[in-house]
Parts: sequence; C-alpha cells; structure tokens
Amino acid sequence: MCPIKMSQSAESQKGVLFVISGPSGTGKGTICRALQQENPALRLSVSTTTRFPRNGEIEGEHYYFLKKQDFEKMIQEDQFLEWAKVYGNYYGTSRQFVLETLDKGSDVILEIDIQGALQVKEKLPEAVLIFIAPPTKFELESRLIARGTDSLEEIQRRLSCTIDELKLATRYDYVVINDYIERAVDKVQAVITAEKSRPRHFKTFFEQFAQ
Ligand code: ADP
Ligand code: 5GP
Repeated sequence: MCPIKMSQSAESQKGVLFVISGPSGTGKGTICRALQQENPALRLSVSTTTRFPRNGEIEGEHYYFLKKQDFEKMIQEDQFLEWAKVYGNYYGTSRQFVLETLDKGSDVILEIDIQGALQVKEKLPEAVLIFIAPPTKFELESRLIARGTDSLEEIQRRLSCTIDELKLATRYDYVVINDYIERAVDKVQAVITAEKSRPRHFKTFFEQFAQ
C-alpha cells in the first residue's frame, strides 16, 4: 500500500505574469526583445498610451496611441489591469489581454513603470516582478542620450525620477543589473526558468502517471 495519498489539486495550468520595470533607459525594451526571441511563446502585452508616437513607432505594435479623453473613458470602464501617469502621459495595460492570455496557459510579459508594477502585484500577488537597474547613474544618462528618442529636457526629467524609483526596487521579487546586455538577459531568463519550475506548473505532467 502506498503511504502517500494524492490530494486533488484545484490548480489550473495558468500562465505566469512577468513584470519588467526600472528607470527609463535602463534597457527594459532591449531585454524584452531578446527574451521574446529566446521564448517565442512569451506574450508581450502592448500598452495603451497618450504619449505622441516617436519616429518609427507602429500603432498596435509598440503601443496603442490614444487621445487623453479616450484613455480616461477606458479608465472609467475599468479596462486597465493597471494604469499610471508617467512623465506627464497616461500609460495602461489591458486587463482583458492579460487575464485571457494567462487563462489560456500562456506566459505574459509586461514592460511597465514602477507605479504600474506595484499595482499589478497588489491585484495579482503571484505576478513575478523583475527590477532592471542601470550599472551607474552616468551609464543611464549615456544610454538615454545614445538612444536619441528624447529631448535633453525630457532626459533630465526622466533622470530626476531615478533615485525615488531605485528605492522601490526592494518591493520587487528580483533585481537584475543591466551592465552587459547578454549577462542581463541570461539573468532574467534564469528567473523565468526558475519560476516556470515551480511544482504548480507540472500538474498535467504528473497526471500522466495516474493513467
Ligand atoms: P528602456 O526600455 O528601459 O527605456 P532601452 O531598452 O530603450 O531602455 O535602452 C536604452 C538604450 O540603451 C538603447 O539605446 C539600448 O540599445 C541601450 N542599451 C540597453 N542595454 C544596454 C547595455 N547593457 N549596454 C549598453 N547599452 C545598452
Ligand atoms: P516610453 O515613453 O519611453 O515608451 O515609456 C515611458 C515609461 O512608461 C517606461 O518606464 C515604460 O516602462 C512605461 N510604460 C509603458 N507602458 C506602460 C503601461 O502600460 N503601464 C505603465 N504603468 N507604465 C508603462
């Protein structure tokens, strides 16, 4: 007689929600693009924003670009899992996209600011928060300048938020310093691999032994 009694688990095979955030220019977008190449099944959520599109940005691929009043209507209709005002513009994550994709069993990645990440953790405590930190203040400024997407005034505005943002890193599940891009991507990938190795993701696998 087997000494271990199997209990029926109510866990479903839901996907995992990974949230990547950190100061502007720290390399979140670069890391997310690399992660998507390594994990084609990982679904990157496309945010909605009232920010003006930058050169080369495509509607529906980089963001859904909306007017302020349309964004505010979506807030009233509770369409966002989280939303925040970041550097003077609204940004938000579609509740429907995230919840439906997780329910279908796919993993989702959000690249959002810190206010938004903490809102997600409050609503979905099982979400995995990864904070991407710059190696130095000087390097962060250099990257923002080298990216060439923002005016010097906008860069200064973004840099002035960094100290307060770094203080909130302690509320995350993981911190990854983006010094060398390959090393940072490997570390985030290691977090994804570890989180996907939790026993609750193996329900279907274990069930085959009962047949
Ligand atoms: P974020 O999405 O956090 O605002 P980006 O991914 O746009 O940041 O990166 C900002 C700039 O820094 C880009 O020009 C990018 O190519 C560069 N970058 C990202 N990671 C590194 C790194 N590890 N070393 C040097 N440059 C980097
Ligand atoms: P950018 O204007 O450079 O594309 O983004 C500015 C900031 O807004 C970045 O920190 C980015 O991560 C954040 N952001 C992008 N989408 C969202 C979102 O849906 N929600 C929140 N809270 N922040 C977002």
